[in-house]
Amino acid sequence: MSTDQSADRSTNQSTDKSTDKFADAFNSDTASLTPDPPEAWNVVFDGYDPEDEGHREALCALGNGCFVTRGAAIDATADDIHYPGTYRAGLYDRATTVIEGESSDDTTIPNLPNWLPLTFRINGREWFSIDRVNILSYRQTLDLKSAILHREVQFQDAQGQQTTLREQRFVSMAQPHLAAIQLAITAENWSGELEIRSAIDGRVNNTNVKRYKPFNPQHLEPIDTGTAEPEGVWLTVRTQQSRIEISLAARTRVTIADQSVDAVQTVDREDQYIAERLKFPVETGAIVQVEKIVAIYTSRDFAISESATAAQEAVLEAPDFAQLRAEHQSLWKRLWLRCDVGIEPIENLRGLRLNIFHTLQTISPHTADLDAGVPARGWHGEDYRGHIFWDETFVLPFLVCRFPEIARSMLLYRYRRLRAAKMLARQQGYQGAMYPWRSAGTGREETPRFQFNLQSERWMRDHTNLQRHVNAIIACNLWRYYNFTNDLSFIEDYGAEMMVEIARFWASIATHNPDLDRYEIHRVVGPDEYHTAYPDADQPGINNNTYTNVMAAWTLSRTREMLDLLPPSIQAEIRDRLHLSQEELEHWDTISRKMQVVFHADGILSQYEGFDALKPFDAQAFEDESVNLILEEKGDDVNHYRVSKQADTAMLFFLLPEHELLPLMERLGYPFDRTQTKKTIDYHLQHTVHESSLSRLVYAGALAQCDPEQSWHFFKETLFADLSGGSSGEAKNGIHLGAMAGTVHLLQHQYLGLRIHDHRICFDPSLPKALCQFRMTFEFRDNDLEIEVVNCQLKITASSSNLSPIKVDCKGDIQTVQPGKTVTFALSDRDTIG
Ligand code: BGC
Repeated sequence: MSTDQSADRSTNQSTDKSTDKFADAFNSDTASLTPDPPEAWNVVFDGYDPEDEGHREALCALGNGCFVTRGAAIDATADDIHYPGTYRAGLYDRATTVIEGESSDDTTIPNLPNWLPLTFRINGREWFSIDRVNILSYRQTLDLKSAILHREVQFQDAQGQQTTLREQRFVSMAQPHLAAIQLAITAENWSGELEIRSAIDGRVNNTNVKRYKPFNPQHLEPIDTGTAEPEGVWLTVRTQQSRIEISLAARTRVTIADQSVDAVQTVDREDQYIAERLKFPVETGAIVQVEKIVAIYTSRDFAISESATAAQEAVLEAPDFAQLRAEHQSLWKRLWLRCDVGIEPIENLRGLRLNIFHTLQTISPHTADLDAGVPARGWHGEDYRGHIFWDETFVLPFLVCRFPEIARSMLLYRYRRLRAAKMLARQQGYQGAMYPWRSAGTGREETPRFQFNLQSERWMRDHTNLQRHVNAIIACNLWRYYNFTNDLSFIEDYGAEMMVEIARFWASIATHNPDLDRYEIHRVVGPDEYHTAYPDADQPGINNNTYTNVMAAWTLSRTREMLDLLPPSIQAEIRDRLHLSQEELEHWDTISRKMQVVFHADGILSQYEGFDALKPFDAQAFEDESVNLILEEKGDDVNHYRVSKQADTAMLFFLLPEHELLPLMERLGYPFDRTQTKKTIDYHLQHTVHESSLSRLVYAGALAQCDPEQSWHFFKETLFADLSGGSSGEAKNGIHLGAMAGTVHLLQHQYLGLRIHDHRICFDPSLPKALCQFRMTFEFRDNDLEIEVVNCQLKITASSSNLSPIKVDCKGDIQTVQPGKTVTFALSDRDTIG
């Protein structure tokens, strides 16, 4: 059944993982299972389509984990078609708006000055704009392998002059403050005077999202602009409330046939705008090469004196486009070595690569040096204002197996806001730490008090801040991180304190019901944001949300376990510092055994107390729609109906494998079995409209073990959600990071059943038919492994640079994989076809 063979894997030369953030694991080119044609790496858009431009801008956004720039045209400014946007990870600003007589100060990621503007005109006529010419051909290609965006346009202007443009651009993964554009202009049938205009435009606002229209969109104020010596221009602005300076510097060079051009230079200078113009003659057939290199610094960056000087210096020292691109490509090659997944057919492979690509652009090894959380929509647009919800739970599993140091920094984002979470708990009359549903810069609650219904043009009170379940996710992520990394020092320094304070919060929000001798959690909102109150109630919140209650019990018991991991003296020191008494621990233990869980009469887990008594609703007829807004427009209220925005109770099955959930239910005194699991999922599926992109992802995970084929159906829908722009019609305002990274999570944790138990890697495969072959690599406690499913076998290969043997358990069959070797497990029909 099992074999231990020598694996033909080449040695990794770079083994010092503590210093090399991009360390390679396996020296093969890609994880692809079959020959890797360009289609497997390229996302191509043929033809210019103004209607789809916003969606393409988000999908073709480029970033390096420090900043992200939307894939807007270089000649565009914000209008009904285009929206150039650049956002810096973790950089926020606040602005005040008066709504319904109340002053509301909302935090957002400010749109930073646009560094893209690069256009031209022939013989002093109109500046080129894609929207004003006759387009003869148009192709836009996002090359995922090299993280380069290409655009090729052939057009004719009003004078019948034909020109071809070939543009390449990237945001450097090698030098996280730099970005570059190369534009080749071919004068097909004309000669004359060509003028290039290369600008930095700080006259930008936050106007990406229609429903935020009533909010104050202005976040930047001018500081200064200037020309740099010996070349280039720069601009500095400041965010209005957070007072962060942002400086951009740009250098633009022009060559024809590799010779630099002798151009007449002028500079246009305004308050928040600076442009360099270069004018020179061009012969028919000439190819003019324009290179624009840009640097972006903020006053929060390390190792600088002041952002404008830093940006100017960086741009002057930057190598030329070709060298900068080569460095950038080599870094991406290394990222792909670590992150690529082999899967068939090509559409699935490309879809998965696109998802991994955007995850890495949002959160790269560079992000580990920043104070940034996991943004719901990437840093790709302004939807949800760059806020941090619970979406990290869908992203962390991808990171923890590949870049544990980034996962650690995501948890540190939360640790730095522990004080704010304790304050929030105190303000609401609770103990411990209550993390906000929406977090940004300071860790205060950022959920807006109102949301605007564009359909009814009315403001609606927003009570979704009552989603206390975000606290369970933070605890769960701490536990996952420890399990994968064995990083006990993190638990000692940060993790234990966070767990204790979160457990304290759960213990204080839970109230004892003497009639039932059970603990209950009242006045919360579950992941399904439609239900924020009982019908006609005068107070917001619902009671005993099953997911919240079970995860609160989970946290209370896990906290105890986490403390017990620590050496006694350290545990004693932490308990002393946090004033954690034996009585308090015992009280937690009691609550964790007596938490109330509500069932329907037929043994199905209820979403919350009273859900089954709501009015029936035909959810299937409203797939992907915003039912709460539709009903509000009609003067009705979604709180009256049995319809869910997204997976809620199903989160339990997504998060906790059966062998963990069933004992947890048993401990709570509610025996639960697989039949009830399926019935519960089916019931809630019927009532779900999947308005959130996370919903199908969660159902795919929840169903993975009990119905792999149905699960695969949801997997596929999630895989292509942003690419198709379908279910996530809002993709133009930012990608759906949780759903994107979550697809990798599904492969490794749900279909392979990967988990860590007793310091060994365990697999419990349940593979849909379509997944009979795939490959991925991951890191486990400083060791690199490759997993391959092929010919009804699961093969685990250890990198020859690994320092220790690793125990692998596949459904109870335990083998040890030595460095450089492979172990193989036979998969049964049940494993491969569910
Ligand atoms: C969902 C949340 C999610 C948020 C950001 C909302 O629509 O209801 O669960 O965290 O989007 O992705």
